[in-house]
This record gives sequence, structure tokens and C-alpha cells, in this order.
Amino acid sequence: MKMKTYNVIIIGSGPAGLFAAMWLERLGIDKVAIIDRHAYPAGGLLNDGKLNFDCRIGLDLNELQIGEDKARQLMSETKKIFVGFPRCKQVTFIDKNKKIEVIKNIACEHGAQFIAPEQWHWGTDNGKAVVNYLRGHLKKTEFFLETEVSSIEKLEGGGFRLICSRDKKRISHNTRCILAAPGRSGAYWFRDIAKELHIQHNFGPIDVGIRIELNRKFYDPITDIVYDPKFIFTTSRHGDKVRTFCTNPGGRVRVENYFDFKLVNGDALSGKKTENTNFALINTVELTKPFSDTTAFGQMIARQFFLLGGGKPIVQRIGDFREGRRSSAATFNSATRHFEVCRATYNAIPGDIALGMPARIMDNLWESFKKLDKIVPGILHPSTLIYAPEIKFFDTHFPTNRNLETNVKGIFVAGDGTGKSRGIVGAGISGIIAAQGIAEKYSKT
Ligand SMILES: Cc1cc2nc3c(=O)[nH]c(=O)nc-3n(C[C@H](O)[C@H](O)[C@H](O)COP(=O)(O)OP(=O)(O)OC[C@H]3O[C@@H](n4cnc5c(N)ncnc54)[C@H](O)[C@@H]3O)c2cc1C
Repeated sequence: MKMKTYNVIIIGSGPAGLFAAMWLERLGIDKVAIIDRHAYPAGGLLNDGKLNFDCRIGLDLNELQIGEDKARQLMSETKKIFVGFPRCKQVTFIDKNKKIEVIKNIACEHGAQFIAPEQWHWGTDNGKAVVNYLRGHLKKTEFFLETEVSSIEKLEGGGFRLICSRDKKRISHNTRCILAAPGRSGAYWFRDIAKELHIQHNFGPIDVGIRIELNRKFYDPITDIVYDPKFIFTTSRHGDKVRTFCTNPGGRVRVENYFDFKLVNGDALSGKKTENTNFALINTVELTKPFSDTTAFGQMIARQFFLLGGGKPIVQRIGDFREGRRSSAATFNSATRHFEVCRATYNAIPGDIALGMPARIMDNLWESFKKLDKIVPGILHPSTLIYAPEIKFFDTHFPTNRNLETNVKGIFVAGDGTGKSRGIVGAGISGIIAAQGIAEKYSKT
């Protein structure tokens, strides 16, 4: 029997893949399939679901080769779809909000930039419902789930063959065109494929830092106004960029598992809140000569913490950090040191963050944390917790044309794993741009 040839196969069912499929359907492209190694088509949509509708957050207009008008138009298209999910709630209102101006001015006095985007949130406990809702927009796209793409072959007459495994069986699918949206979890697999297929790529920056968890009463004065406030610092000692990221009022610290290390992260539920707030403080790291491999550098830091924490992330009380001593299990909740004010929501290993973090990054983080304490007084309470490592590996960059097509014709890229976005909304937008590019190319042939 002759094997079916798809017009487009999308690798990855995260927001980039799902929005690409929606737009391919809208643009009349048939024979489209999505492949994902997981049983549930979702990617990172199951995590927290804070949505930033602001062109300065989660997407790089130069990288996507679009102007602000186009970005705003695509953002409004994605917003229409996301906010149609009834449990997606607006959490930051920016129109005529005078309090935002006040925070901006205080931040400016302390040398920081403050960005307050319009924000919506659905919460990790609504993750599956939102994915069902998004998938409901797809009428014709086929799904191959629990199916892992292991390699890609170029076919002689044009097009590609995807070699996949499902239930330990090898299967293959032919397609005229591929949209790779493998997310951060599939980024290194796709980089290996890119080497084999001679798809141009290079190293991008990574973000290295800590996750801060504190009693929410210290940060509520800010998060009551802006749910996920973005403070950006340029450090005076090294001139480096540090920013706050992914704030979760009433949230929990979470862990991301990798093969030989663990990273910290955070989320919040919609229905059940904790007494704490957590957020990331991260330092952007770019490397040049003689060593530009930001992936290897980030992984080395992550493995160092894995080693020091006996296989778990490390946590330290600010009270201990300030006095230059490690945190320990015996005194971790000591009332005499006021540590009981913040009960950890994740069971990391009490230790010494400064032992695992490169000095320049530690300097940058501490300088910025002290400035943030001037803007939001009280956050450096002795009970405040710092967890490490928090690393964002947005580190493989694929040069493309404006349709997000790589130098290998017929292979398009989108989403976080290919350097085209940093978050759910940006991933969705990049998926739409790639879909429009694919439709433009294939409707002509
Ligand atoms: C704990 C946590 C909290 C987060 N909170 C937020 C938030 O509040 N707001 C926000 O904007 N962002 C958040 N993010 C980030 C967000 O999840 C990502 O930005 C987003 O999911 C990226 O979308 P994507 O489509 O590029 O990739 P993904 O969503 O990662 O999807 C990629 C998919 O590709 C599949 N895949 C990879 N390789 C293969 C292969 N070889 N074969 C088959 N399938 C493959 C994966 O299984 C995955 O399902 C959070 C992330 C984490 C970990």
C-alpha cells in the first residue's frame, strides 16, 4: 500500500504546534498531522498558564522579523482564543492604573526598569481543560501521540521521512514539509538533527539564577497591582542584565527533571493558594570566544548543584546567606531566627547557593536583589528562601527567513526550543507566523 504523504507534519503539540495547526486549518492546508511523544497533547500548556499580552515580553520582534503592528495584531488573535477559555482570568489591568506609574517611578529611582504587561492566568489545575479547549479548535488535524520522532531523512524527490517510535515499534511518516516546535525539552534532540541535515544554527544566551520564595505579605503590595511584575536591572559591578521572571502569588516552587540534573521553577493553582509567593531572578549570560557553548556552560552549573545537593536543588535562607553560612536542616525552620515566617513549598536540600554559582552571576543576583528590596521593602527578610539552580535554556538559535523557514527548504521552526519565543503567547505567535509562511509557500505549488 502506498504510504500517505502529509503536507505538513508538526513536531510538538505545545502552544507553538497547536496554534500553527489552527492557522493551517484556517488557511485551507489539509493533510496536517501533529506528533508528540507524550500521551496528552499539551507541551508546556499544563504549567501555570500566565499569559503576558505585551510585545516586550516573551517574543523578540527582530528574531521574528515583524514590526510592532504585526506583533500586536497576532497577539490580539492569540488573545481572542486564549481568553475564550472561561477559566482564564485577567489578573493585571493596565489601563489608567496610576499605581503602575508610581511603581515605575520608584523602580527608576533605584536604577531599575519596570514593565507591567496586561496579564491573564488559568492555573496549573486548569491545564488539561485549557488543552481540551484549544484542541477543540482543530477539526481536521491528525494526532500521533506517544510517538517520538527519532530522526528525519530527506527524500530524493523532495520532502522528508520522519522515523518515529511508538510502543517500541518503529514507524515512519512522509511529509512535504516539517514544522519543528519541540520546546525546550526537545531542543537538544532537534539540534542534533539540525547537525545531520545541515540546518544552520548557533548558540543563543541562557538565563541563570535563583528562585525566590517569600511570605506573600512582603510581595503582595506589588502583586496586588501587577500579578507578574517585571523588574529589569543593569548591574553596576559587571554591567550585566538581571530580571525578575515568572512570579506566582500564592504559588508553589516546582522542580523540572532532566537526565542528570534538576532545575527549579514555580507555578500556582487557581483553586488553592499557599501563603507564599515565588519568582525567578535571572541573569542573562552570553558567551563569545573562545567558548560560546552556553548549553554546556548552563549544564555544568546545573550538574554542580545536582552534585552539591545530593541529586536535589539547593535552598538557602536569606538570614544564613547574609551571614555567609550554609543553611542546614537543624535550623531551617528556627523560630529564633524568624525562619518560620516562610514555610518552604518544595523540599530542597538546605545548603549554600554561593558554592555552586559562578561569582559574576552571584554578584549580579545579589546586587539586583538588594535593589529590589529597596523598591519592595521587606523582601530580604531572614526567612526568605533562595533556591538554585533556575536556568532557562533558550540557547539554540536558528537563522530563518521571515516565514521561519530554515536554510533547508521545507523545514520551518517555531517556539521556545528553536529560539523563536520565550513563553506561551510568544510560542503561539511564532506558530502562526510559520503556518502563514507554509501556507504562502505551498498554496503556490
Ligand atoms: C513549571 C513551568 C511553568 C511555566 N509557566 C509559564 C507561564 O506561566 N507562562 C508562560 O508563558 N510560560 C510558562 N512556562 C513556559 C512555557 O511552558 C513554554 O514557554 C511553552 O510551553 C513553549 O511552547 P512550545 O510550543 O515552544 O514548546 P512546548 O510547550 O515545550 O511543547 C513541545 C512539545 O514537543 C514535544 N517533543 C519534543 N521533542 C519531540 C520529539 N522528538 N518527538 C515528539 N515530540 C517531541 C514535547 O513532548 C512537547 O510536548 C512554564 C514552564 C514551566 C516548566
